[in-house]
Amino acid sequence: MKKHNFSAGPCILPQEVMQKAAEAVVELDNIGLSLIEISHRSKEFVAIMEKAQKLALEHLGLEDKGYKALFLQGGASMEFLMVAYNLLQNKAAYLNSGTWSTKAIKEAKLFGELIEVASSKDANFNYIPKGYEIPGDIDYFHCTSNNTIFGTQMMEFPSIDAPLVCDMSSDIFSRQLDFSKFDIIYAGAQKNMGPAGTTLVVIKEDILGKVDRTIPSMLDYQIHLGKDSMFNTPPVFAVYTSMLTLQWLKDLGGIPAIEKVNNAKASLLYNEIDRNPLFVGFAAKEDRSKMNATFNLADGVQSEVFDALWKEAGINGINGHRSVGGYRASMYNAMPLESVQVLVDVMQEFERKS
Ligand SMILES: *Cc1c(COP(=O)(O)O)cnc(C)c1O
Repeated sequence: MKKHNFSAGPCILPQEVMQKAAEAVVELDNIGLSLIEISHRSKEFVAIMEKAQKLALEHLGLEDKGYKALFLQGGASMEFLMVAYNLLQNKAAYLNSGTWSTKAIKEAKLFGELIEVASSKDANFNYIPKGYEIPGDIDYFHCTSNNTIFGTQMMEFPSIDAPLVCDMSSDIFSRQLDFSKFDIIYAGAQKNMGPAGTTLVVIKEDILGKVDRTIPSMLDYQIHLGKDSMFNTPPVFAVYTSMLTLQWLKDLGGIPAIEKVNNAKASLLYNEIDRNPLFVGFAAKEDRSKMNATFNLADGVQSEVFDALWKEAGINGINGHRSVGGYRASMYNAMPLESVQVLVDVMQEFERKS
């Protein structure tokens, strides 16, 4: 039986995407060859890469606006480093809203002065800092749109003159935003787009080329842009599968359509967390993530019965991250509303049995 997969990442992908990806590993589009045995410079793969790039920009409304999409390797973690390598000349400002922001800050410190404009570490990152000031003389401002581990999500982004860089690994393509506010958006594929192995980096080209340092080729955005993501062998399987997911999303009606489903899933689960006396939400209500819901058992409630019930219902992956404890239900784009209903039913059954 297929499980209801609430894993935080790698995570659920659309069933039909997995089916098509599996078929392409055996044979791609009746060409007598597997996706993973053809040259990345073959016309078949070049077309796949171009389609993936086009779909990504199309979904974000960034076509013909000076942006390009790259599919790189090294995960979102590599972008922590590459952003600073390519943009940080003197000073950068970062918002610290969780583990991933903290890691991004650590890498950027290698390259210049770093201003942490605000941090929610004082409350184990259970909220998004607000009302902070961003200095004017910075090379860029960096933030994390969705904090996968703590279950918080930024609802508003600052308007600044400096480039705005955002790690959208765990909520890209999940909600409508004015993406043209951002100059670099990056996202590891394995949360909302595809298998691990590639990172989508969307860049406004005119912000590059402003640092003095020599950048190693593999870490230089301009080199990757100049070669259209083909400077070295791209992760062909991850790019292909991401392309399939982006096509799946387009066929559904794009971000506006999936956002409605995501809103419905999040309301269903948060309403139950708030209604059911056996549970308490972890994140501040106004900052609750629609992708990752974090919650705990109420004081004194034992976990055994609940854990047995959700396992029995075929639910997978809801144990909380070790830095938060409790539970985390990740409800990425590919998760149907029905799976969230199964979890809510289990929470109600737990209440009846207690
Ligand atoms: C998972 C995650 C990362 C790390 O991604 P890797 O691909 O493992 O490097 C970074 N940022 C956010 C917001 C994430 O959710």
